[in-house]
Amino acid sequence: MIQTRQDLSHVQRAIVKIGSSLLTDANTGIRMSMVEHIAAQVYAMQQAGIQVCIVSSGAVAIGRVHLGWLDKDLSVHEKQAAAAVGQTWLIEAYRQAFAQYDVQVAQMLLTKDDLRHRRRYLNASNTSETLFSAGVVPIVNENDTVMVEEIKFGDNDTLGALVGLMVHADLLVMMTDVDGLYDGNPNEHHDAKRCSIIHELNHDVMAMAGGSDSQFGTGGMLSKLTAAEIATRGGVVAAIVNGQQQGVLTDLLSVKDVGTLFLCGEDRHSRHQHWIADVLHVAGQLHVDAGAAQAIIHNGASLLPIGMRDVQGDFDKGECVEVLADAVVIARGLCNYNSTDLRRVQGLSSQEMAKILGYKDFTSVIHRDNLVLKIRGNS
Ligand code: GLU
Repeated sequence: MIQTRQDLSHVQRAIVKIGSSLLTDANTGIRMSMVEHIAAQVYAMQQAGIQVCIVSSGAVAIGRVHLGWLDKDLSVHEKQAAAAVGQTWLIEAYRQAFAQYDVQVAQMLLTKDDLRHRRRYLNASNTSETLFSAGVVPIVNENDTVMVEEIKFGDNDTLGALVGLMVHADLLVMMTDVDGLYDGNPNEHHDAKRCSIIHELNHDVMAMAGGSDSQFGTGGMLSKLTAAEIATRGGVVAAIVNGQQQGVLTDLLSVKDVGTLFLCGEDRHSRHQHWIADVLHVAGQLHVDAGAAQAIIHNGASLLPIGMRDVQGDFDKGECVEVLADAVVIARGLCNYNSTDLRRVQGLSSQEMAKILGYKDFTSVIHRDNLVLKIRGNS
């Protein structure tokens, strides 16, 4: 278990996620020098006994270059078409770069749906294991050509974290074009410092991403912190490093002070909690009052009908819903009743609920065992 930077020398399995901005060149499509830089470092990791899976973005951006679509606003189908074109260049570049070391690569295209379905999840996980044992480097990307909003990971940082949990990696490295997480905007504040280690990814740390999905104009810090949260809750240490820095992966693993390292806290998610918090499709929203929010956040309580103020969406019992207080998502959980029944009983006691519905399978709307908090306190 990795508890300090020094422990990074014991990593056995790592996910290396590379963003589109590092891999794309507006003239040539793929930035081959970057792919070669990554292949050299990943090969060195393999030589040191570390199994590596690459999660690579870039398909859409590279496809745009080859289709001459750089200056055009793309429709969803055009993005999917660009991804289909770009993915062939991407995988060919990795194949060529790793061939210099006589290492095979494998293409794995996944959707969030694949991770939600038990059988497909097991197939993806077993295939990864087989590839690792054969010394192959899996190159994972989202299967963009079939994506629709409901099955999208949203970004490859999240995909990297979910794949990390799926293959029981020790480490998720997110390579980007900044040196890590800063405690302020270095473009505005010259004294802004890179955070070397984050022990707890609390609300204050999240706020350092600037409240948008773009830190300092380079993009994606919030999604990286969200991915780090998923990874560390599941026992996978996360790091954000600058992929442009020569030999940065080697430096990270030889415990040099590079990037920002996110260690795992005590409050880990079980597999069941991870499933609810990060994987399942959210089918609706339950708005609760302050008393219910307090009981859920601080007292480990279940959600009872009396605390519900509004029900949004159409869902069946057993589906995953978000719990909101004052428009902030505080938890996610598996609902014991369908949306039609819940609308009839919101604000009522459990006894009244039984009378109105004519049945009472459960006292709670969401039992505590099926409820996962989505907020963290300040430090
Ligand atoms: N799957 C997308 C691509 O390869 C990238 C998604 C992301 O950058 O997060 O273009």
